[in-house]
Amino acid sequence: MRESYLFLSISFLYLPSLSSIQMMIVIMAAQATSKNKADVIAWAEDAGFDTHFSEGEETTIIGVIGDGRPVVKEQIGRMPGVERIVPILKPFKIASREFKQKNTHFNIGGHEIGGKGLVLMAGPCSVESRSQIIETAHAVKEAGAHILRGGAYKPRSSPYSFQGLGEEGLKYLAEAREETGLPIITEVMEPALVPLVCEYADILQIGARNMQNYALLHAVGKSQHPVLLKRGMSSLIEEWLMSAEYILSHGNTRVMLSERGIRTFETYTRNTFDINAIAVAKHLSHLPIIADPSHATGKWEYVAAAAKASIAAGADGLIIEVHPNPAEALSDGMQSLKPERFAKLVTDMRRVALAVDRDITK
Ligand code: PEP
Ligand code: MN
Repeated sequence: MRESYLFLSISFLYLPSLSSIQMMIVIMAAQATSKNKADVIAWAEDAGFDTHFSEGEETTIIGVIGDGRPVVKEQIGRMPGVERIVPILKPFKIASREFKQKNTHFNIGGHEIGGKGLVLMAGPCSVESRSQIIETAHAVKEAGAHILRGGAYKPRSSPYSFQGLGEEGLKYLAEAREETGLPIITEVMEPALVPLVCEYADILQIGARNMQNYALLHAVGKSQHPVLLKRGMSSLIEEWLMSAEYILSHGNTRVMLSERGIRTFETYTRNTFDINAIAVAKHLSHLPIIADPSHATGKWEYVAAAAKASIAAGADGLIIEVHPNPAEALSDGMQSLKPERFAKLVTDMRRVALAVDRDITK
């Protein structure tokens, strides 16, 4: 008796009441005409809602996003060509698996991200000089990396630490891409610099410290450039997905999530690698997940273990710090791998990838 009462009250609480629906997905019938689809969009937009159109091979779906007001489900449900309506009750909408069941995948410089093959991004924490980034680019490419990382604008805890070379660093990255063919990923820290960084970078990195810099999220969303969104060091998974939502809400679909460790009571490692977050984010979202075992551990000795574990947990790729001479690095030397160690790790990671029915292409 008690149990059934409890069940009833829980199901009542979670019943999708119409007034709570702020977004729904309109699934169009296979035989729906272009006019039917245009009519649904026109109706929703006339009523003041934003729409999101996605035409797949088999189905066309139209996301209708409310601004806090309930979306009127019945009226759209009666329109010609509409097959069914699915409400999205999660606070993150476009980022959710309800919105898109299949994994998001896209191509960057010939590399599929979010597909069967894992993507490897590697390079120094900071671009320190022309020769340093070019030497590292060749070394990581030789070892099997697909994308070159390197920070030109660095978010440092101390204002007296090396802050990055700025545009000069971006130019060296572009030269390294020219020489090796590797696409580049680099961090952008402020909205005003988004256009400049887009001129050089193939992927914009949003750092952990800026995960909730909403002006920056809007700016990278509008840029339509691919984005790697690091998880904030004290952020909930839900907050991380809400930040992705900011970017996606601008129609920028090429978003990757990156787990880079969170703050816990443990101090032996720099952060605690939240391996759970990879499984949880994959379950909740269709976006690709990139593991960052370098920042997650903070010590090069543990990078390989965390890297291999992330692949087993379902990561779609990794971003790993590699420096030709870690002892002399201007940032994050303690967690940077020497190129030879990175090369060995790539071989080991490939074996783990194959064991979980993934691959790391050469
Ligand atoms: C980095 O990639 O060098 C970096 C600063 O990362 P995070 O934002 O995760 O600390
Ligand atoms: Mn770093």
